[in-house]
Amino acid sequence: MSSIAFIGLGNMGAPMALNLVKAGHSLTVFDLVPAAVKGLTDAGAKAAASAAEAVKGAEVVISMLPASKHVEGLYLDEDLLGKIPSSALVIECSTIAPDSARKVARAADVRGIAMIDAPVSGGTGGAVAGTLTFIVGGQAAALDRARPVLEKMGKNIFHAGPAGAGQVAKICNNMLLGILMAGTSEALALGVANGLDPKVLSDIIAKSSGRNWATELYNPWPGVMEHAPASKGYAGGFGVDLMLKDLGLAAEAALSARASIPLGELARNLYSLHSAGGSGRLDFSSIVNLVKREQD
Ligand code: NAD
Repeated sequence: MSSIAFIGLGNMGAPMALNLVKAGHSLTVFDLVPAAVKGLTDAGAKAAASAAEAVKGAEVVISMLPASKHVEGLYLDEDLLGKIPSSALVIECSTIAPDSARKVARAADVRGIAMIDAPVSGGTGGAVAGTLTFIVGGQAAALDRARPVLEKMGKNIFHAGPAGAGQVAKICNNMLLGILMAGTSEALALGVANGLDPKVLSDIIAKSSGRNWATELYNPWPGVMEHAPASKGYAGGFGVDLMLKDLGLAAEAALSARASIPLGELARNLYSLHSAGGSGRLDFSSIVNLVKREQD
């Protein structure tokens, strides 16, 4: 069992770290928000006073932070890489710009530290259940070292290519997810406005050609799925501002490759409008509120 430093214990990081504790790994955890570590220390993890303290003597360092600026800020500006033992493996799980992932991986390589980008898919439900999909960029040898740890948090592990490739694949997936959630919301709102019961319509779509991840596991209409964020006031889950960040990453990737993403850009504008209306911290399935009539 490895000695693991886990940094960033938000909606995703906390349940992922908990699965590693349950698997018998020795965890030292750190988050800027002290309350975030409580569930982990209750389960037997050690709390560190800083990221630098957390990585002392670590064999594996895992980070799960919001965005590129947090990852570059931690590893480069705060020089966490300078404090990580060169024998350690770094598994960076946040969804960030591919260029940021490559920049940090290059800096790790200069110090002789193995690093992979390993963004995840599967949502908070997948993080709790230990069924996440890991989408990895980096060297195959580093991924092989990471596998025993990743397998305790996820069910599917894909090697997308060299450093940064995991992020490219993740961004493509999330652009599609943003479009599907907005489209699913629009279809449900249309049905309800025309007199249908949202649960009946959702059951029909889930067994018809319009089915998708939102209709199967993450329905945006309140009350249709008991465990979905929609039934809990859109609390927890995957924030609107995080989806907006990912759609912005897709737009940047499209610009740099001269690719066309008309639906991705439309989705980015919808989530931007929704965030500007004060919903940035709600789960992204609350996008349904943009098209839902007040009385429904
Ligand atoms: P979150 O905002 O809930 O958690 C992020 C945590 O990082 C917070 O607790 C914050 O305090 C901490 N943090 C920020 N900077 C830090 C630093 N320098 N040192 C230590 N801690 C720091 O976000 P989340 O929903 O857990 O998402 C994390 C990442 O995973 C994001 O990149 C997101 O896009 C991606 N993601 C999220 C989901 C989801 O369903 N929530 C699914 C897949 C991928």
